[in-house]
Amino acid sequence: MLSSVAGGGKSTLIQKLRDKHPEILFSVSCTTRPPRPGDQEGVTYHFLTKEEFEKGISESAFLEWAVVHDQYYGTPSKFVEDAFAKGSSVIMDIDVQGAGIVRDKLPGRVVTIFILPPNEEEWERRLRGRGTDSEENILKRIRNGKLELSRRGEFDYQIVNDDLEGALRDLETIVLSGKKS
Ligand code: 5GP
Repeated sequence: MLSSVAGGGKSTLIQKLRDKHPEILFSVSCTTRPPRPGDQEGVTYHFLTKEEFEKGISESAFLEWAVVHDQYYGTPSKFVEDAFAKGSSVIMDIDVQGAGIVRDKLPGRVVTIFILPPNEEEWERRLRGRGTDSEENILKRIRNGKLELSRRGEFDYQIVNDDLEGALRDLETIVLSGKKS
């Protein structure tokens, strides 16, 4: 399970890990946030209405769910259960709130990793460089990110993403060993 602050480079790292290891399944989350350019239904996320998401909550369809940046995000339970039943490993991209829940629900079966941007200046530069968010959204992500960063000690591993290839090697080593620190 990977968490990060927005703009930490987690999505790129996950994509590179998936390209290299197609045998590791990716848990596609549900969200109510509107699709961004490049998002694909069922590939990056399952895009749901608020009503559909709340129905999922009432039917216990989520392993965990959280409100992140004012939108619902959740991990469908069935996908993870089916993958585990087949003996497959799953990558989950989850915020720090959801990370705590998954850790409690899957004791001993999850390795938690926090991806850190190299420093604050580079982090803000990356956030603004995406060009997909409004200034208000960027400021919200920075505020939330500072809270998330303060919880990084709760994770089994922390990877500083200052050099993409190095961070990918670290991630691959951790994922393939499947062990907690
Ligand atoms: P984004 O909208 O930028 O793709 O993601 C925003 C945040 O939501 C990220 O921190 C990401 O890790 C988190 N997130 C994505 N999917 C899930 C999920 O299923 N559950 C939780 N709790 N957070 C998620």
